[in-house]
Amino acid sequence: MDCPKCDGAQLEAIEVDEVEVDRCGACAGIWFDPSELGRLLDDDTQKVGAIMTGDDDGGHDQRVASCPRDGTRLVRVRSIRNSAIVIDTCTKCRGIWLDGGEFRRIKREQPGVKLGELV
Ligand SMILES: [Zn+2]
Ligand SMILES: [Zn+2]
Repeated sequence: MDCPKCDGAQLEAIEVDEVEVDRCGACAGIWFDPSELGRLLDDDTQKVGAIMTGDDDGGHDQRVASCPRDGTRLVRVRSIRNSAIVIDTCTKCRGIWLDGGEFRRIKREQPGVKLGELV
């Protein structure tokens, strides 16, 4: 799949605690399927260290993006765990895109909130 935020970069599937997510090597953004994100946010920090990476440079966060799966324009919404963070979600397949560093920043906030409350 193409990275929704980088021109010409491809997402690479990586496995994190038996969950497969797609990460961009260029911007460290990560694509999550609907059930994956909540599970990984509630996981032990050391198990998900591989995706606690990247720094929010601001530029990627502002960029309008399309769903890497179906091309639908992603909708920008605030994370309920950390309202300073704007995440991109697909209204069609319900996938969620986190820019580099956003997973780490959201994970620091109140563990235990379930996925349905995230957006
Ligand atoms: Zn990228
Ligand atoms: Zn989609």
